[in-house]
Amino acid sequence: MPKIVLRLLVAAAMTLGISVGTVVVATAPAQADGCYTWSRTLKEGASGGDVRQLQIRIAGYPGYNATLGLDGKFGPATEAALIRFQKAYGLAADGVAGEQTYRKIYALQDSDCTPVNFSYGELNRCNSSWSGGAVSATQAKANALVVMWKLQALRRALDDRPIQISSGFRSHACNNAVGGASTSRHLYGDSADLTGSPSLCTLVKQARYHGFREILGPGYPGHGDHAHVAHDPVKLWSASSCF
Ligand code: ZN
Repeated sequence: MPKIVLRLLVAAAMTLGISVGTVVVATAPAQADGCYTWSRTLKEGASGGDVRQLQIRIAGYPGYNATLGLDGKFGPATEAALIRFQKAYGLAADGVAGEQTYRKIYALQDSDCTPVNFSYGELNRCNSSWSGGAVSATQAKANALVVMWKLQALRRALDDRPIQISSGFRSHACNNAVGGASTSRHLYGDSADLTGSPSLCTLVKQARYHGFREILGPGYPGHGDHAHVAHDPVKLWSASSCF
């Protein structure tokens, strides 16, 4: 009920001498901005596109050396990831996605569904179309979105210290220009090169908890000045100066 209507009703009741008592106004469901709004509570056993949307937002909480499947099925791994997400933000850690969880996610995301501390522009300094890589532009951009949610979790774990991204998606042309490997995950949009105030070793060590299959840092050739993280199908962790 709109507030103005409620006020009029209360005023009318008072005019008529009716005791209104304590007026309890149900909290309106949390609304996302232009991005996405969940319409039901989700818990283990649920499935659907809304579960997948949740999985993308909590993809950075799979636990050590794990990745969360974005399959739209709310199983034990999704529940465990959700609990980690809830704990990270001081919410009741019940493994159920309801108003409290959605409110936090809405607060964490921009209208284009990217997390507040990262943007598509940061993940693509190559071209504005996301084309020319190893996958379609749509896929590259979708991959970058998941990477950003993982980075948001990494950032949170490091006391919300800013993380700088020096390179994200690359077309073949951009990748060749910087001498990237011909099989680079940058061609898929699912990787990021990181710099910033947390040391590179701090970044790569913590990244092991946030769903990155590929982690390269100091000690790996060519990675003395940045940390590379990617959602690669083949596990490759190498940063011999760090771990
Ligand atoms: Zn890289």
